[in-house]
Amino acid sequence: MTMAIEGWFALGEDGVALLGTRCAACGTVCFPPRRDLCPNPRCDGDSMEEVTLPRRGRVWSYTNACYPPPAPFVAADPYVPVTLAAVELDEVGIVVLGQVRDLTVNELEVGMELELTSGPLADGPLVWMWRPVQ
Ligand SMILES: [Zn+2]
Repeated sequence: MTMAIEGWFALGEDGVALLGTRCAACGTVCFPPRRDLCPNPRCDGDSMEEVTLPRRGRVWSYTNACYPPPAPFVAADPYVPVTLAAVELDEVGIVVLGQVRDLTVNELEVGMELELTSGPLADGPLVWMWRPVQ
């Protein structure tokens, strides 16, 4: 299976996990992973360690995309609208955007708990997605 983006998520025995980085000096957590300088403006750290991010979080905001995004996105033909959620991850508190499976925009609410899963994009590569907690 081809990953849509190498190095941003991984498939393990217990499912898909996002790969972030944590600054060894101040503990700031990043996604997408940064491998050089800490993004915290008050920190001079340059040692970012890879961490597996929490697989659950709560909806911070959401929307749907009723028109196909522009290239290089490859849309299904005919286009199927997608639901998108920005989810604040448990423990680390950063917000990660992703497509939502099994829920329409009318079924989402701010604060709803979602968990990470994966699914194929229209042109085949696998990407992380959100779904209701199973
Ligand atoms: Zn730092």
